[in-house]
Amino acid sequence: MKCWVCGSVNTKFLWGREFNDELVPSDFAITNDKYGKTLPLYECLDCSFAFAHPLPDNILSLYENLEDELYTESLNPRYKEMKQLLESGLGYFPGAKKILDVGAGAGLLVRAAFEKQLEATGVEPSKWLVEQAKKLFGIELIEGIVPNKILEGKKFDLVFAVDVIEHLSDPVGFLNTLKSYLTEEGVILIATPDRGSFLAGRLGAKWWHYRLAHIGYFTEKSMNEAVAKAGLKIVKHGRQNWYLPFGYLLTRLSNYLPVKSLAGLSKKFPGLDNMTIRLNLHDNLVVLLKQK
Ligand SMILES: [Zn+2]
Repeated sequence: MKCWVCGSVNTKFLWGREFNDELVPSDFAITNDKYGKTLPLYECLDCSFAFAHPLPDNILSLYENLEDELYTESLNPRYKEMKQLLESGLGYFPGAKKILDVGAGAGLLVRAAFEKQLEATGVEPSKWLVEQAKKLFGIELIEGIVPNKILEGKKFDLVFAVDVIEHLSDPVGFLNTLKSYLTEEGVILIATPDRGSFLAGRLGAKWWHYRLAHIGYFTEKSMNEAVAKAGLKIVKHGRQNWYLPFGYLLTRLSNYLPVKSLAGLSKKFPGLDNMTIRLNLHDNLVVLLKQK
C-alpha cells in the first residue's frame, strides 16, 4: 500500500485491527474515550505519515450520522479554543474579512468571527451538529463536505480546518481544495495532532489522539511534505491551547493514571467540574499556509 502523502510504498505496520461493520457513529464522536483503539495503522518510513488501512467503506456516513452530547456540554471551553485560533489567523492577516471554516462542528469559530463583524461560512458533515449550530446560536452552516457546490467560485481570506485533516484519506487533495477557496493573499490554518510530539512518543499506542475516527496522523515532516505537494508553503508554526472543563479532564486522566479516585474528586467538589483548565500539551500542530 502507498503512503497517502508522499506515495512511498516503504511502510511498516504499527498496531490496530479491522472493525468491518462493527463501527457505529458514536465510535467517531469527538469526545469518544476509546483511546488507543484504532483501525490497522501503517507508518510511512519515508515521510513518517501514519495512516489506516483498510478503511471502513461507510466512513462518511459515520460522520453524517454523528451525534455527540458530550461535545455540546463542553461548548464553552471549545469556544475559547476557536476564538484563539481565529486570533492566530487574524494575527497573521489582520485585514481578513471573509472566513471559511471546514468541519465547523456546532459553528463555534463562525460564531467567534461574527462577533468580530466578519463574514463567515461554515461547512459540517454531521446533520446533528448543523442542527445544534442553528438551535444554539442561530447559525446556518452548510451541511456537507468540501469541495461543495454552494462554495463554487467563492474565495476567502482565512480558511480554517481545525481537527479535520486527520479524518481524511486524501490529505493532499484536501489541501488543494482549501487552496482553491483562497484569495490571492489568503491564509489557511490547519490544526491536527502531532504524532511526532514528545507525548505521542512517550504514550505510544495509548496516546489520546490514536482513535478510531483518526485515519491519518501527521508529524512536522509529513506536514511539510503534504503542504509542498499541494503547492502551498508554511508561513507560521504554532501550538494550540486546549481549554477543558476540569470534570472532563479528570475523567480522561483516569484512563491514564492508576488513581481510581480522581473521578471521585469532582463528586466531592462539584464546583470544580465547571472550572476551565487551559492546557498546552505541545502535541498538536498548528500551521498557517499560503500559496507558493
Ligand atoms: Zn510518506
